[in-house]
Amino acid sequence: MSCDHPDLLPLDEALARLWAALPAPPVLELRADRDDPASDLAAMDGVALRAAEGLAPRRLLGTLYAGDDPAAFTVTPGTAVRIMTGAALPPGADAILPVEQLREAEGLIHPLEAPRPGDHTRARGEQARAGDPLLSAERPFSAVRVALQAWVGQPVPPLGRVRVAVASTGDELVAHPAPHQIRDSNGPMLAALAHTLGAEVERRPSLPDDPAALGGALRNAGGARILLTSGGVSMGEHDHLPSVLKDLGATILFHKIRLKPGKPMLTALLDGRVILGLPGNPVSSYMNALLFLPVAMAGIQGRRAPDPWKEGRLAEAVRNPGDRPLLHPCQRDGKDLHPLASRGSADLVRLAQADAFAWVPEGGMEAGPTRYLDVL
Ligand code: AMP
Ligand code: MG
Repeated sequence: MSCDHPDLLPLDEALARLWAALPAPPVLELRADRDDPASDLAAMDGVALRAAEGLAPRRLLGTLYAGDDPAAFTVTPGTAVRIMTGAALPPGADAILPVEQLREAEGLIHPLEAPRPGDHTRARGEQARAGDPLLSAERPFSAVRVALQAWVGQPVPPLGRVRVAVASTGDELVAHPAPHQIRDSNGPMLAALAHTLGAEVERRPSLPDDPAALGGALRNAGGARILLTSGGVSMGEHDHLPSVLKDLGATILFHKIRLKPGKPMLTALLDGRVILGLPGNPVSSYMNALLFLPVAMAGIQGRRAPDPWKEGRLAEAVRNPGDRPLLHPCQRDGKDLHPLASRGSADLVRLAQADAFAWVPEGGMEAGPTRYLDVL
């Protein structure tokens, strides 16, 4: 086994480091602005009545729907009010008799069961009292946090998408390639992935392997919160991205991770933006985007940290000579992961045929349980 990367950052640490560095949006503590519920409410469709009168028939005074002012009726002995779920209880009533528990004839209702005080009602303040703390500022953004924010009368946050810019780098990328050139597949791939993840995507023109051009593009990120680049982060003489970022004063969170493929991965912060410097090889580029982009987007939106890992079972042994864990393309049948005969990080064909990437530790593994990532 070779041991050429003893100090590389393990993947899970790299993900945690990115997460910790993300500028989370301000989040409010939420408090009840009034009692919840703010009046006694019907919890079922039925009639509102006085429980103490037991099985005696009641004369119906009218109907209250959710939102109606309950002062329209007063329930006096021998009477009841038809009421719908969510309507406030009229004065005098202390219980709801559900429609299923009554018979109705000639303007009278006859209880089939004796109601008890409080039956099928929601008492004022039973969920919270005005001023009670409801949700701490530590709780992440979620659709339900937004619901509670609206419930207590706070303005809800605008639902903008995270803007993600995508730029490929490399002099070899052209639209009509000679045999020594290639088409840009990473740019469209990364844009499609970001779109799938819910980003507002901005495609940038491919960048030449030229430090000045790279620097210009990095400085001028427009409204994007995340910039995805592909290529130019390895050890080649034209891999300028790390030095250009350093010259611009970017904070490099990490460069190179303990992962195969995808080792050259670079992550940096520049002017409040997240730069995900993905390797140029298509499998590396895709896999690192699949791992790091959801984390960056969730952090920026104040959502909880995503955990893309699932538990499955490698159906056949996979070799992994080397000292980096391998994410190996597989076809997935339920939880069974069938490894594809991948030719490594440039093998876009096997990537396109894969449903999932199986985690294969250093040294390889026999068939058996392992974690995996689903391809999106
Ligand atoms: P790099 O990371 O720039 O050294 O590129 C590694 C390999 O990925 C090289 O073979 C590149 O030609 C290839 N590559 C780089 N960018 C792209 C791209 N946008 N689409 C497809 N292949 C690429
Ligand atoms: Mg390149």
